[in-house]
Amino acid sequence: MKQEGINNLNSFDYEVVRSDRKTLSIEVHHQKVKVRAPQKAPDDWIENFVYQKAQWIARKLVEQAEKNESRIKLQTGEEVSFMGRQRVLEVTQGASKIQLSDNELLIRTKELTHESMAKQLDRWLLNQAKELLPQKVQSWAEVMGLQKKLTGVRFRKTKTQWGHCTRQGMVQLNQLILLTPMFVIDYLIIHELSHLKHLNHSKRFWALVEKYCPDYQKAEVWLKQYGHSVWY
Ligand SMILES: [Zn+2]
Repeated sequence: MKQEGINNLNSFDYEVVRSDRKTLSIEVHHQKVKVRAPQKAPDDWIENFVYQKAQWIARKLVEQAEKNESRIKLQTGEEVSFMGRQRVLEVTQGASKIQLSDNELLIRTKELTHESMAKQLDRWLLNQAKELLPQKVQSWAEVMGLQKKLTGVRFRKTKTQWGHCTRQGMVQLNQLILLTPMFVIDYLIIHELSHLKHLNHSKRFWALVEKYCPDYQKAEVWLKQYGHSVWY
């Protein structure tokens, strides 16, 4: 059973979720603070705990606000990378269309709302991914000698994953990877393909990744630092 409540302390709100547990814990996700507590935990115990962690919570909230700030704004003049090349966004009103040129990404939209543009861009990116990425995955699979294990490539915009690989040999990629630099795109493909051989993150898995992507750590660091900035 869950009980919820909102309290206020040091200028941030937090939600208490009570459940069948013995300890207190704090989570900060999407700029929201959640305290998990035992069913009968006294309020002052929870308040004290939050008070002790206030600095850590505040730091997390600032970090997450900064990440949010660095997301792509769907407005004219904003820069985006597409397949490793910088383009300037141009947003206009009109019959829906997205057009890519060497230096520009034009979004023409019926409604100039973030939601409608984001949906339009989602659809377009999915189509672009289907057009551009399977052959790239295929050629890396050939280079790595894994083409027989690869059964297909599909795309999904999942909140927490850049890619995924199934036991059946299906490689799944997030179409947003099109907005990351080329070395990151290659790394993510090599990472998922390496799972065709090792369905884990063992030493042997990383050795295989490194063989085809010697700079893989650079890509991992890029994703940690800037991965959130390809969201819109
Ligand atoms: Zn993995």
